[in-house]
Amino acid sequence: MTQISSLPTERTDSPYRADAAGFFGEFGGAALPPFLVEPIAEVAAAYAAAAADPAFQDELQALLAKYVGRPSLLYFAENLTRELGGARVYLKREDLNHTGAHKINHCLGEALLAKRMGKTTLIAETGAGQHGVALATAATLLGLKCEIHMGAIDVAKQHPNVVRMELLGASVVAVEEGGKSLKEAVDSAFGVYAAAPDEYFFAIGSVVGPHPYPSMVRDFQSVVGREARAQLLEAEGKLPDALVAAVGGGSNAMGLFDAFLADESVRIIGVEPAGEGLDGDRHAATMTLGTPGTLHGMHTKVLQDEHGEPAPVHSIASGIDYPGVGPQHAHLAQIGRAEYVTASDAETLAAFQLLTRTEGIIPALESAHALAHVVTLAPTLPQDAVIIANLSGRGDKDVDFVAERLRGA
Ligand SMILES: *Cc1c(COP(=O)(O)O)cnc(C)c1O
Repeated sequence: MTQISSLPTERTDSPYRADAAGFFGEFGGAALPPFLVEPIAEVAAAYAAAAADPAFQDELQALLAKYVGRPSLLYFAENLTRELGGARVYLKREDLNHTGAHKINHCLGEALLAKRMGKTTLIAETGAGQHGVALATAATLLGLKCEIHMGAIDVAKQHPNVVRMELLGASVVAVEEGGKSLKEAVDSAFGVYAAAPDEYFFAIGSVVGPHPYPSMVRDFQSVVGREARAQLLEAEGKLPDALVAAVGGGSNAMGLFDAFLADESVRIIGVEPAGEGLDGDRHAATMTLGTPGTLHGMHTKVLQDEHGEPAPVHSIASGIDYPGVGPQHAHLAQIGRAEYVTASDAETLAAFQLLTRTEGIIPALESAHALAHVVTLAPTLPQDAVIIANLSGRGDKDVDFVAERLRGA
């Protein structure tokens, strides 16, 4: 197939893109403590220059093709389609990327930008460790150092990912402060970064955080949707009727959605974790139940308590249990361009098993949230309709947990 460029070409004058200050309508921006304003503004300037530089684009393109294995397949799931009895279901196979998920797309982009800026070390926080592993991989490939901050509780819980990061040469900092979890890891990593921004590049793991990260990470992921659009036009001779993707911070979803935003006929659907139900606090349905607030340097929808503190969240998939969401998603919902629905832990587990048994593809539990909505949606659509679901990652990391849950059920 034809080569798909690594970054979108048209960058402004769209109702879907951020203004110069990083606002998508009322959401986004850069709400930062004074000591971070300068270093983050430097990242924004460097990214704007890189995005306009064909040499940067070519280098990223080459890495995506030769290292990640792009383009990823757009797979017609014929057995699943027959089983569901409605729309034709296609899967964008980000699970086939090197490292097994979509995250490598933006980690390589961020690593290349860090190098261009003359930084020596990538720094980030990680919760379940998926971002840490993808970032450590990108750092190794490009000859950068990598420092991953992780709550001490997560270090113990996510031992295999800690081992992977260390094997890849990253240093993993176990954060012992406070609740010893993701929130403390974020503070810890930002503290180190702020003290030496000449040395470090802060590599955020989704379309969240202060400007330019929501736009930059989206651009790095948007290759997913540009490939899918061309692949489907080739396979079916038409655009899809609906796109479906799981939303944690929202990077795999924005990656798929971006190329279709101007195609008004295409329904765009993000799927959040309803966890154990929307009535308690055992969910992470930020778009559905969150309210406007400020979190991690951005104005967005937030699941928060009455003091504006992020609420506790839960999902069976540790990659999407986040109390905020990328500001572009909040904007797309507000202007009515995208819809956000939920899938529970139980529906997700059922979809995980269904894809495994019909297609012989074991999906990540994060991606299985998107599939759970496909199970609901496909039978309501005519047989000539087309759904593209983003299979954001493979489920090898989840099989022990799922086996345990199924034994217990
Ligand atoms: C991290 C992760 C997600 C969630 O992140 P987004 O930024 O919402 O895409 C989804 N799927 C997989 C496989 C992941 O590793």
